[in-house]
Amino acid sequence: MSRQPMILDGNKVAVVIKEQLKKRVEQLAKSSIVPCLATVLVGNDPASETYVRMKSNACNKLGIDSRRIYLDKQTTTEQLVLAIQQLNADPQVHGILLQHPVPSHIDERAAFEAISIEKDVDGVTTTGFAQLAFGFGRFPCCTPAAILAILDAYGLPIEGKHAVVIGRSPILGKPVSQMLLNRNATVTVCHSKTNALPTIVRLADIVVAAVGKPNFVQGDWIKPGAVILDAGYNPGNIGDVDFAACFNQASAITPVPAGVGPVTIATLLKHTVDAAFYANGLE
Ligand code: NAP
Repeated sequence: MSRQPMILDGNKVAVVIKEQLKKRVEQLAKSSIVPCLATVLVGNDPASETYVRMKSNACNKLGIDSRRIYLDKQTTTEQLVLAIQQLNADPQVHGILLQHPVPSHIDERAAFEAISIEKDVDGVTTTGFAQLAFGFGRFPCCTPAAILAILDAYGLPIEGKHAVVIGRSPILGKPVSQMLLNRNATVTVCHSKTNALPTIVRLADIVVAAVGKPNFVQGDWIKPGAVILDAGYNPGNIGDVDFAACFNQASAITPVPAGVGPVTIATLLKHTVDAAFYANGLE
């Protein structure tokens, strides 16, 4: 009789991270320090507004300050960089998150680069990425870190496994590939120009879907017993993996919602609290 696949419950993993964080926030409070995450949103994209609100609510529940900076959609790159520099200079702010995407007239890379490395809690700067690739960064990108946190929370081995990552974005596919490589997986990175994608995915012990296309990964692409991590978050709470089709093939799989998403938010909070410790010379 085949075993039932394991559902990798992101809510449970997030609860454990947040419980540990509560104690650290209390520890900071004894020194009258309140960790603070500043989130910058340019324009009024409703999905982005929802994400910013969710992050802010999650902060408030743990006693972390959240500062929301809303900028008009006409904001120029220079104005955005200036707003970020002001947050860099503000000692009350420990983490800065620029909500992606920004309007197309803005040089998003220039804006990300303006975030000081000490406050780059989502690992979006080139320095942050380089540190992650070398394996000593303080703050890896939150979604990739969340994916590894889920594997670790469930004791799923990474070393020696063949991981196939579908997607190579600077905030997700590329950093998660580097993190898996640093943990001694053999990593194949796929993208929109990859030939014979299903054949490559069929070789994977670990599949990471970071494509941005609903229900993209098909059941007959999955090697029996593979572990599937679905980072996708498409309109209507739909992942990048066809969950129903892949479920029976997998040994373990993250659902959407309640998979990678909640752990990403918990990781962002953790990085903000860590940044507050570092900024105040505490450990
Ligand atoms: P992105 O920047 O649009 O990157 C998508 C990647 O998928 C690109 O590398 C692209 O290849 C690749 N791709 C597109 N079509 C493909 C195809 N037919 N075959 C193979 N690869 C293909 O997206 P992202 O920001 O990385 O986000 C990916 C997904 O994760 C989205 O659903 C997003 O909402 C979700 N996300 C979730 C969280 C979370 O907290 N859960 C956080 C961030 C993002 P090219 O490079 O060749 O274009």
